[in-house]
Amino acid sequence: MTPIQTRTTQEQQLLIPVPQVEPRVAIPIQNLRIPGPTPVPPAVLAELARPVINHRGPEFTAILRRVTARLQYVFQTTLPVLTFPASGTGGQECALVNLFSPGEHVVAITIGHFGNRFAQIAERFGLQVSRIAFPWGEVADPGIVEARLRELASYRGVLLTHNETSTGVTNDLKALAALIRWHNPDALIVVDAVSSLGCIPFEMDAWEIDVVFTASQKGLLCPPGLMMLAAGPRAWEANAQASLPRFYFDWARARRSLERGQHPVTPPVSLFYALDLVLELLLAEGLEAVFARHQHMGEYVRRHVRALGLHLLADPAHASNTVTAVRVPEGIDARVLLNKLRERDQVVLAGGQEHLSGKIVRIAHMGCCEVRDLFTALNCLQVRLQELGFQRDKHKEREAFQW
Ligand code: PLP
Repeated sequence: MTPIQTRTTQEQQLLIPVPQVEPRVAIPIQNLRIPGPTPVPPAVLAELARPVINHRGPEFTAILRRVTARLQYVFQTTLPVLTFPASGTGGQECALVNLFSPGEHVVAITIGHFGNRFAQIAERFGLQVSRIAFPWGEVADPGIVEARLRELASYRGVLLTHNETSTGVTNDLKALAALIRWHNPDALIVVDAVSSLGCIPFEMDAWEIDVVFTASQKGLLCPPGLMMLAAGPRAWEANAQASLPRFYFDWARARRSLERGQHPVTPPVSLFYALDLVLELLLAEGLEAVFARHQHMGEYVRRHVRALGLHLLADPAHASNTVTAVRVPEGIDARVLLNKLRERDQVVLAGGQEHLSGKIVRIAHMGCCEVRDLFTALNCLQVRLQELGFQRDKHKEREAFQW
């Protein structure tokens, strides 16, 4: 009996027929410049092809211990860094359910889509949330934050985004954390560093941050799937009192397992191979060099965008060194532009979110990114904009290059 005949016989007995789906096709190599997932270097991709090992065996324990120690260096903390199979949103939820009890008051400082998501999750879990919201494209002004904090009833924690990916703005986290600590020494300072950690300077212990989390698919040169979180002493104390329900994301379970060199659930072993190599590469390059490289790429993109006669969404003083949001000229729909770039040039940029949809494009320059990839992407952007009727202003172009 041939396999086809077997399938046909089985099929006759099955309620659900074999699905008629689009065939699998090779996807052309793209110049992927979205703010996550970001391209993964070939050497790291090769790690994913290694045979899977027993996650309870000594080989995995060695990887977990090495990865944890090196993550502590990247987070700049002496505290254990917990890893969870999850995305960045998982980090937001994980932080909230481990720190708070229903009805507790938290302040969410939000400058865009991901700050809003953090606040929404807190509300969904029954917390009382006061938002200090800034217009999209602006930074959280410490003076305004301070004035608003004074007006608010006492609060248990403050939720912050280090780098707002939807607008390409980096908050002055050090200044914000210092003023929150001064205003309320017991407040839990909870930081989403999903699109900044490993790219933009960050010092958990020195800045007295209580909780920080990030995800593998942005600046850490890995595919999506891993979330890493560190919690300070105040946060662990809060964790012992916090009554929001949790199981998968329970820090205490994760920490007990980590102390035994294990993971509480079946971990994505192949992603740990990748992260293990990534951290080795990152440390070999040196954190300072990595930050300087991102600063250089950020400046390069901003200068080039202005030279094209386009406008940045963010004030360059607070513009992110991992992602740049560019206003699309009046009369041009960003979605049409993005489709052209993907179909004709294999250049994949991101659009705007919520009310900025159709109005901006976002160009990522984090993780595995070379100036030549950015140069190509920006030149293609220029060509496609011209096709859509955009005229460059030669005068502005000269001015921008002098910047
Ligand atoms: N926080 C920030 C700052 C982000 O940029 C993102 C995603 O881009 C998230 C949270 C949500 O992460 P994910 O899409 O991995 O769940």
